[in-house]
Amino acid sequence: MNMPLVVEAAYTVAAVCFILSLMWMSHPSTSRRGVQMGEAGMLLAIIGTLQLKQVVDYPLIIAALLLGSLIGVPLAYKMPMTAIPQRTAISHSLGALAVALIGVVEMRRLGAEGRGLSFASAALGFEMLLGFVTCTASVLAFAKLQELVTTRPMVFKGQQLLSLTVFLGAAGCAVALALHPQNGILLAAFVGLSLVFGVLLVAPIGGADMPTVIALLNSYAGLAASAMGFALSNKLLIITGALDGASGFILAMIMCKAMNRSFANVMFGGFGQVAAGASGGEARPVRSASPEDAALMLENANSVVIVPGYGMAVAQAQHKVSELYQALSGKNVDVRFAIHPVAGRMPGHMNVLLAEANVPYERLVEMDDINGELANTDVALIIGANDVVNPAARDDPKSAIAGMPIIEADKARTVMVIKRSMNPGFAGIENELYYLDKTHMLFGDAKDFVSGMVKELSGGGMHKSASG
Ligand code: NAP
Repeated sequence: MNMPLVVEAAYTVAAVCFILSLMWMSHPSTSRRGVQMGEAGMLLAIIGTLQLKQVVDYPLIIAALLLGSLIGVPLAYKMPMTAIPQRTAISHSLGALAVALIGVVEMRRLGAEGRGLSFASAALGFEMLLGFVTCTASVLAFAKLQELVTTRPMVFKGQQLLSLTVFLGAAGCAVALALHPQNGILLAAFVGLSLVFGVLLVAPIGGADMPTVIALLNSYAGLAASAMGFALSNKLLIITGALDGASGFILAMIMCKAMNRSFANVMFGGFGQVAAGASGGEARPVRSASPEDAALMLENANSVVIVPGYGMAVAQAQHKVSELYQALSGKNVDVRFAIHPVAGRMPGHMNVLLAEANVPYERLVEMDDINGELANTDVALIIGANDVVNPAARDDPKSAIAGMPIIEADKARTVMVIKRSMNPGFAGIENELYYLDKTHMLFGDAKDFVSGMVKELSGGGMHKSASG
């Protein structure tokens, strides 16, 4: 399609906005600007597209806008930060469905025009395959993360053979459809097989790996949009799809590296199938402490490293943690935060929460930089983290998380762990760190426990410390 100059110009500026947006989003200090730039780019892209008067059906666009807002606004406001992975999954599924349905309409149009094999029909076959697969795969990923279905890998005998057969069937139909776009039965079989393959792809993957799978699905959805751009000769779709596809893939790679896992292990490893020994055995003794005891130990320390994890996010304890940082800094305790790349449920989860609570960014130290200093640290205070400080990853080659880099909190002189129980973390495995002589378990909700410590440190608690 020949685009009017004004549309070409809007698309070009929008593409530049998206590239700048990605660049700025890669650092917390510029990420807000990055999001705003992305929004501006999207607005420009929409305004540009609305100028294509010969193809745009305005009443339909308004109806879609209303329907989309009706779903999107509550999603944005109602879902908590901890549910970002499943929110991302469900929005991917809708995006992928939109791309796939446009593919169906375009394929039907090519069929009605009596066209045979063309570049457009081949690109459409590819994008519909990715679109439909991503749609059902994302819905299942959402259901697993929201615990609407079991988070365990769903495996059965002959599953891989069935998956391969269904995939080959869908891919075969895509090729046949590219040759015969007018064939409705082929189209129906293709859509059905692609949707089933999406389910088969995600079913054997455990809930623990869903965030990585979602990043991969993000990349598939981007590729589908890019292929759609080729089919419709729309340069903006090609560029944004490629950016989306590449960034999703890079994110998935970063997650795999931080967990010391391969893509194949994530997709086919059945991780999380057995919760090895988790909280199933006999109860072993641990040493516990109260907020008053913990506050006293922190106050008497010279150096404290706080290791935040998923539990801090669940408890929404970041503001109280920031107050704890201020109270201790006011008493000349050197406090830093150790950030593991996969702490929480998405990369950068801890950075975002602590930035929101105004913890100075220079106090956040990456895992590789802090690990060498932990042996000289008085107290490692773990707040709702588990897997990312589990020494089994380093010491036990048979562990489900063997080889995953960890924050070596066990090397600090004293270890304190805030969590509600002895339950395991995401990987479902026991943590020997809790049983060390130097470890104090601080049982309770992270927000309540940290509040108790802050109260104590600011002189509002029962215990008045004389030390400094
Ligand atoms: P984790 O291993 O899931 O442990 C979180 C701990 O927080 C739990 O042991 C839980 O114990 C505690 N907790 C929950 N709610 C709490 C509350 N209200 N107050 C206090 N404690 C609470 O978390 P993590 O150490 O951050 O590790 C992240 C895991 O996610 C890793 O296995 C990682 O591989 C995986 N993962 C992360 C990403 C990512 O991008 N970040 C991606 C894929 C996978 P209680 O129930 O006893 O309180």
